[in-house]
Amino acid sequence: MSTKKPIIHCDALVVHCMDYRLQKYLQPWITVRFGYDNFDIISLAGSVHDYEMVLKYVQLAVRIHGIDTVCLINHEDCRAYGREGNLQTPQTRFAETPQNKITALFPDLKVETFYLHLDGTFESIS
Ligand SMILES: [Zn+2]
Repeated sequence: MSTKKPIIHCDALVVHCMDYRLQKYLQPWITVRFGYDNFDIISLAGSVHDYEMVLKYVQLAVRIHGIDTVCLINHEDCRAYGREGNLQTPQTRFAETPQNKITALFPDLKVETFYLHLDGTFESIS
């Protein structure tokens, strides 16, 4: 794969859940983190729950916008994971995410993972 960046460029792809309870926290945090117009963003039920879908968007964002960073945000009480999801720790929530696949496919990409609590606190998960 060519490392040459496309002419149209932004720094990051942000992946978060569609849940309405998060929106008031997400937009301000993402803007502070990446700027007003420096990120692609997708909103999927369960965020990284459908990691094959997430991978498709990562590949697209790399190809058309030359992103440097993928920012994955899961959250507390995500109903997309069902009852079992509420028993998962933030760390296990990311255990089956595309994080490792992204790194394998795109070793130059930085992958960040966060767990958003319903009080608006973003917890970095590594
Ligand atoms: Zn959710």
